[in-house]
Amino acid sequence: MDFRETHIKADVLIIGGGSAGAMAAIRAKEVNPAQRVVVFEKGHILYSGCIARGMDALNIVAVPGQTTPELYVESNGMACEGIMDEPVNYRMAQRSYPLMKKLESWGVFFPRDKDGNYELLQVHPKGKFCLTMKEPELKTILAKRLMSLGCQVLGSSQTQPGSVASMNRTTNLPFCVSHPGSPQTDSVKEKSIIGSPG
Ligand SMILES: Cc1cc2nc3c(=O)[nH]c(=O)nc-3n(C[C@H](O)[C@H](O)[C@H](O)COP(=O)(O)OP(=O)(O)OC[C@H]3O[C@@H](n4cnc5c(N)ncnc54)[C@H](O)[C@@H]3O)c2cc1C
Repeated sequence: MDFRETHIKADVLIIGGGSAGAMAAIRAKEVNPAQRVVVFEKGHILYSGCIARGMDALNIVAVPGQTTPELYVESNGMACEGIMDEPVNYRMAQRSYPLMKKLESWGVFFPRDKDGNYELLQVHPKGKFCLTMKEPELKTILAKRLMSLGCQVLGSSQTQPGSVASMNRTTNLPFCVSHPGSPQTDSVKEKSIIGSPG
């Protein structure tokens, strides 16, 4: 077979384009729009990952006036019987409301009652942190946003099903996407890597 290799340069290479990878790509472009951001995704970027499979993600929120990040840490700690990374959970809770507002501004639907309050469900021992989110297109919204910001997606959405990013790296070999049954390989020379394969 006559092998062909495309060499691509990236400031940020993201491996795995689920919700974590998509959000990382969007954030990298928000921080510096001039950065070259490349996402390796072995599935189709519009439909890949947990959230495209009905796992209502991105809806644990400390809504100001209703709950607090401090209460979230206390409550989640009880739910996890103390097995919890407290600083990470606190930071997540602190950032949850601005993130939800950002998602809302992108078109993600969080229902409200007639008084304009978000619907909140009690799933934790203390406080209501689970926001109702009715957005079957969440992954598609994230994927379209990252593409509209100029992130480059490599994988089966551009080529054919079954493309896989090699996660094995020895010192001098670049990360690459191979396309089974095809002579094409895309290799990336990157400055930084974010691993988000689920
Ligand atoms: C049953 C269930 C219910 C849940 N309910 C909720 C909920 O109510 N609220 C909430 O906030 N969260 C919920 N979650 C959690 C949430 O859905 C996940 O934590 C989150 O979506 C995980 O995102 P991720 O990007 O880390 O991983 P994933 O969504 O798994 O994405 C990883 C991506 O990496 C790609 N990939 C993997 N390996 C490679 C490779 N070698 N090369 C290229 N691409 C690769 C995969 O194709 C995939 O698209 C739930 C999860 C489950 C399973």
